[in-house]
Amino acid sequence: MNKFDYMEKHGFEQLVYFYDKTTGLKGITCIHDTTLGPALGGTRLWNYKNEDEATLDVMRLARGMTLKSAAAGLNLGGGKTVLIGDAETCKSEAYFRALGRFVQSLNGRYITAEDVNTTTRDMEYVNMETDYVVGLEGKSGNPSPFTALGAFYGIKAALYYRFGTDDVTKFSFAVQGAGQTGYYLIKYLLEHKAKKIYFSEINPKHIERMNREHPEVEFVDPDGIYNLDIDVFSPCALGAVLNDETIPKLKAKVIAGTANNQLLDEVKHGEAVKSRGILYAPDFVINAGGVINVHHEIRGYNRDNVIRDVKKIYDRLLEIFKISDKEGIATQQAAKIFAMKRIETIGRIRSNFIP
Ligand code: NAD
Repeated sequence: MNKFDYMEKHGFEQLVYFYDKTTGLKGITCIHDTTLGPALGGTRLWNYKNEDEATLDVMRLARGMTLKSAAAGLNLGGGKTVLIGDAETCKSEAYFRALGRFVQSLNGRYITAEDVNTTTRDMEYVNMETDYVVGLEGKSGNPSPFTALGAFYGIKAALYYRFGTDDVTKFSFAVQGAGQTGYYLIKYLLEHKAKKIYFSEINPKHIERMNREHPEVEFVDPDGIYNLDIDVFSPCALGAVLNDETIPKLKAKVIAGTANNQLLDEVKHGEAVKSRGILYAPDFVINAGGVINVHHEIRGYNRDNVIRDVKKIYDRLLEIFKISDKEGIATQQAAKIFAMKRIETIGRIRSNFIP
């Protein structure tokens, strides 16, 4: 890949490769855009096939973080780190402290956190060498309940926009995946007495937990979830679940869930969902509860303030749905315009000199 062409096309600021000769740590930090504030994004550890695969992944993820934080109203830019290695064998105190030193060398332009294959424990080691790490044990903690809470309010906003009421007792739901976020989302729906809830899962432990704790939530086969006659389909498992094969099957009138990258092709499938009359809550807007939670760690953590900010996802989505209708574009595109406009406007008001 031609990295500078890709950077120019999507407005990337910085791509940093680092290697530690003591531990063999190999990583890449990408800072996409810092107009709104320091770039924040977790550290993902993955056995990438090669350098190009890792580079493309870190750039794609960093850019996603720029949009997510901008749309969430946070003063954060987008960044990400990927480490190339085998999570089973490469982890150690020294490995993560070496990472911490590279993060510190960026002097606050980038703030890291846990992500796939890294844990709050690993971040404790990172924290021994840098101030620029969040999501630590005893601070903001597990983001999933907040991501699910944001999705719950996002679902209510979509229901209100589509049906004129956000009263969940009138609607039926299908939640795909009852892991960290799906489990909490189902809990919130039950607390608010949703009319009917189905769930699909592939992990026997998670199926058993749901059956034991909430037998009224009905299990459906993972392939069967797309055909259900329900009001809301809530993807809370994998990406790319909205595609040529699944979209024609859907009977739901609203799609709103926590999963990242739900549309296989953002433009094509965003349009396909729209043309079927389904209201899609853009993933990076509805699933921002986790980053909102972690952001509060930078400002001084207060749980009530986090909940107050997570609930704002409701109004934000209404605004995005209105842009989509006014401009005649898919909601995913409207969400991007919404995020980019904030970056441009705030960037411009900061352009004057203050002595
Ligand atoms: P998780 O791994 O805890 O849960 C996902 C669940 O989906 C698992 O239980 C898994 O068994 C199940 N699953 C996998 N394939 C499935 C299939 N084909 N059908 C039905 N179930 C299936 O993950 P999570 O933390 O709940 O995250 C879910 C999604 O939300 C991911 O896309 C993640 O990137 C995104 N997300 C999570 C957070 C967060 O705070 N955890 C924040 C933002 C976005």
